[in-house]
Amino acid sequence: MRWPPPLPLLLLLLTAGPTAAVQKQVKIVGLFDSGSARQAAAFRYAVDRVNADPTVLPNVRLVASIQRIPLLDSFQASKRVCALMEQGVAAIFGPQTASTSAHVQSICDAMEMPHIETRWDYRLKRDDYSVNVHPHPASLSKAYESLIRYWNWKTFTVIYEDIDGLVRLQEVLKAPSSSEFKITLRQLPADSTDYRPLLKRIKKSGNTRIVLDCRLLVLRPILDQALEIGMMNQYFSYLITSLDVHSVDLEAFRHLGTNITALRLVDPAQAVASDLLQDWLQDPLPAHNGYVAMHLNILPFFQTETALMYDAVRVFAHALHAFNEKLTVRPLSCQAENSWAEGNSLVNFIKLVRTGGLTGTIEFDREGFRTEFTLDIVELLQDGLKKVGYWTLASGANYTRSYGEKIREIEHSLWNKTLKVIMALNEPYVMMVNESDPTLTGNARFEGFCVDLVNEIARLRNFSVEFDLVEGGSYGGIDPVTGKASGMVKALLEQKADLAITDLSITYEREQVLDFSMPWMTLGIGILYKKPTNEPPPLFSFLAPLSLEVWLYMATAYLGVSVLLFILARFSPYEWDNPHPCREDPDVLENQFSLLNSLWFTIGSLMQQGSDIAPKAISTRMVAGMWWFFTLIMISSYTANLAAFLTVERMVSPIESAEDLAKQTDIKYGALATGSTKNFFRDSKIASYQRMWSFMQSARPSVFVNSGAEGVERVKNERYAYLMESPQLEYVVERNCDLQQVGGLLDTKSYGIALPPGSPYTSTISTAILILQENGTLHLLKTRWWKEKGGGKCKKDTKAGTNSANELGLDHVGGVFVVLLCGMAAACMIAICEFVWKSRKLAHEDHVSLFGEMAREVRFALRCQSTSKPARRPAALPSEMLTGWSPPPPPAIA
Ligand code: ASP
Repeated sequence: MRWPPPLPLLLLLLTAGPTAAVQKQVKIVGLFDSGSARQAAAFRYAVDRVNADPTVLPNVRLVASIQRIPLLDSFQASKRVCALMEQGVAAIFGPQTASTSAHVQSICDAMEMPHIETRWDYRLKRDDYSVNVHPHPASLSKAYESLIRYWNWKTFTVIYEDIDGLVRLQEVLKAPSSSEFKITLRQLPADSTDYRPLLKRIKKSGNTRIVLDCRLLVLRPILDQALEIGMMNQYFSYLITSLDVHSVDLEAFRHLGTNITALRLVDPAQAVASDLLQDWLQDPLPAHNGYVAMHLNILPFFQTETALMYDAVRVFAHALHAFNEKLTVRPLSCQAENSWAEGNSLVNFIKLVRTGGLTGTIEFDREGFRTEFTLDIVELLQDGLKKVGYWTLASGANYTRSYGEKIREIEHSLWNKTLKVIMALNEPYVMMVNESDPTLTGNARFEGFCVDLVNEIARLRNFSVEFDLVEGGSYGGIDPVTGKASGMVKALLEQKADLAITDLSITYEREQVLDFSMPWMTLGIGILYKKPTNEPPPLFSFLAPLSLEVWLYMATAYLGVSVLLFILARFSPYEWDNPHPCREDPDVLENQFSLLNSLWFTIGSLMQQGSDIAPKAISTRMVAGMWWFFTLIMISSYTANLAAFLTVERMVSPIESAEDLAKQTDIKYGALATGSTKNFFRDSKIASYQRMWSFMQSARPSVFVNSGAEGVERVKNERYAYLMESPQLEYVVERNCDLQQVGGLLDTKSYGIALPPGSPYTSTISTAILILQENGTLHLLKTRWWKEKGGGKCKKDTKAGTNSANELGLDHVGGVFVVLLCGMAAACMIAICEFVWKSRKLAHEDHVSLFGEMAREVRFALRCQSTSKPARRPAALPSEMLTGWSPPPPPAIA
């Protein structure tokens, strides 16, 4: 022990005083190969503390024998162990290297000598006399797996130095559900300290989550080189498997926002740990002090193996105490192959120890493996490495830092930072203020809904923004065939920007590779097309109230009823009347319902006019009554419907829905060339949308457009329908009164702000969006950019249109006039026929020429002087009917 001892130890020595004189001495051996100076110091320190504390071993004084052996020299180590055993020892500690330790272990096994190790050993079975205080690699591996699951990492890269690294991660690599992890393994070059090529390959792959397994000595150079090539920013996360990250100087990375997480078994801030460290640092031997280690960027911090050696000595002391300290140490000879009988019991007592040490609770199973231990989860924050949670085998990873605390840390880290925002031009989301104005530079070049939205978020979260346009102007996605990213998606994956905003839809494909904020607008796909033209009503629009079918049925009913009336009237005796009521016994009876009169009667009632013919028999009256009822209902229905048909404007649109579009090929339709609308049709399982996709794909020239503005122009100038998203459709329709939305929305989705994968800002941007939504800012912004800036143009036009729609023009009733004219013409034709027919008959009777007779009749008609005309005796009347009849005097013809 160096002199003077540290103060706490001095106090313990003073209080221990007289008891030490009567104590039995038990020798224990520590084997340390070169490079294990810390463990040797810890071994010596632990023995000193045990001796100084009478409560641990009141009757025994431990004597520490520190043996330095050449590295990897098993022969020397075996010789040394045999020599020491001949002097009589109670336990062997160490060494650290696997091959040497294996030799020592087999000697101890043969001699029944307890062998206590503190090294990383992945064997699943231990020799009977061996105990290891170091946690088993399989348990450590479970801890890493549990962290990876906790963070929900699906894709990550493992950088490892040697095969031991893969053993440390065996649980992750061999997990039955490892298909859920997409792991890329990359080995550090053994022959070079230039890790840049390897790191560049990882960066190019787009993987930002890295599990780093390497020696402490190369950890800092790797991180430095990662910083050089831009892999130490807020988008990269590192899980470092070393339990001693706290002993590496990470000062240079504290403010970069990189997520660096590690596990540790020892809290270096513990009082015992810092005493031990002080003791070691003050050791006069240069090889022991911190100089060399500091030179290699390893801080003189307390390391796990040091703590484990300290704990190993304490475990031995506890076991010895439990053994009643009655142990007799005897010299043993390797040649004689004699063994130490008490060694067996002592090992069993060691395995039964349950105590707390610098490395937490210590407990062993029957194999001598450590079963109970707790690991601290530490993260590199702005003020250094901090414990944020713990891990145990039973409960897995537990974060003690609340979610709110984490978010506050992130918000704090954003203060006064400048985030780069990329955008794609599309009205009214992102627009250039004035492209031709060279005085406008930086953020002043842009305006629009998204520009205002990002400015509001930046104001809320205290950061500044730098706006820029994405190269090529496309929204982007992942090509399903090549897997290559494009547009804004590519820029984010390459970390060329911190945020991407425009009318960028949150889609499954994008969400797979990027992070998205909460949505700031919800929408669906709609169809933009020209407004329908007002079609002039057809000439015979008065026929429209009733369908052709009804008209045909009515005509049939009319003929049927007329014929029925004619037949029934002939059958009914009450319809046969005396034509000369003065003669009681007439020779003939007359029936007024001739076929023509029947037709006249029914048409008269159908036209609501009536006639001078009236049925007298009950049967004919029944027919008449039913017919009147029928005409009452039909005419009322016709009249009611006619008003509506004549006054409502008929707007004729060739398409009313997406189905209509799918059914035809005359009107072309398309969408944005690199957008989610196009992908919606590409991926749809609905038959009509699949048909539309095939049509769009095969159409030449292409129906896809490079910008929303181009799509709107095509709608205006061609027979083209543009499939676009509802908010922009609303915006366009507000400003172009000749355009309209056709049909409903085809889907539902949202716009969000995209961030690079693993961005720490996603939740803080999301909460800012929620605040803006709840305090109405989003609504105000929408009103400003949709209505106030050039919107509302089409309202007045619509009102005017409504007024004129109620007036009836000649167009509406022209057909009635045509029918009237046709009727009149037909009547004239019939009158001529009648005139000719009658004149022919009279000419024949009077033996005059037809033309002479016609001329006479025409002259009489044209005179228009009298409404009475002398009757002319019909030549063919039967003689009995002429009884008592004398012809009137002939008219005086001028
Ligand atoms: N909002 C769409 C997108 O994010 C653009 C479109 O397809 O109309 O890709």
